[in-house]
Amino acid sequence: MTRRLTIAIDGPAASGKGTAARMLAQKLDYAYIDTGAMYRAVGLLARQSGLDCFDGGAVGALAARLRFAFHWDGDHLRIFVDGRDLTGAIRAEAAGQDASAVATLPAVRAALLDQQRALAQDGGVVMDGRDIGTVVLPQADLKVYLDASPRERARRRTDELRRRGGSADLDQVFSEISARDHQDRTRATAPLRQADDAILLDTTGLPPSAVLTRLLALVQARLAAS
Ligand code: C5P
Repeated sequence: MTRRLTIAIDGPAASGKGTAARMLAQKLDYAYIDTGAMYRAVGLLARQSGLDCFDGGAVGALAARLRFAFHWDGDHLRIFVDGRDLTGAIRAEAAGQDASAVATLPAVRAALLDQQRALAQDGGVVMDGRDIGTVVLPQADLKVYLDASPRERARRRTDELRRRGGSADLDQVFSEISARDHQDRTRATAPLRQADDAILLDTTGLPPSAVLTRLLALVQARLAAS
């Protein structure tokens, strides 16, 4: 039987990691865990509860109470939090900013870390985020760091928001994701960075199908080496 790997994919906002991770998981018939969706859900629920997104005690206690589950819906991954489907609600860029705020809180990261590791414990999993290769799954079989030029990332996010029916201005999205990346890279706990043993893949100018082809080649090489 083919070994089922644990695959960590990290990178900045709109680097293409969500699409790549989802396509890779589908192709390999692995589970896909979108850890950004977990932080987004905590940010959304903190805001809905009237909490300050930088209040470590209150938001940490909220995060520790939540139970996360992921389910495929055709080609899409849906996230359920305490049984509630939050898939659509967490996608606005404002939810990304709240996610980035709550993600600076050590108590929130500790609460999600346990659940993320539990979700990956059986292998056969692709997990994407900011600290998967460095903190969540340091022993992952394959680590990839996806990046793309800041302009291209802003363009992709703008297109995605418009596809979802929202109005999005390229310059505004550019400054929002730049601010979010800065906060993610400079926070004290588990900042965004490429793990020393991660493979860098620059997706600038690459369509998702080409990114998938490269990832599958890396998986094959990893399987052949083990
Ligand atoms: O990946 P996505 O853009 O949905 O993530 C939203 C936010 O969640 C990120 O900007 C980051 O602050 C936070 N995050 C994190 N660690 C992860 C995944 C996401 O801090 N593993």
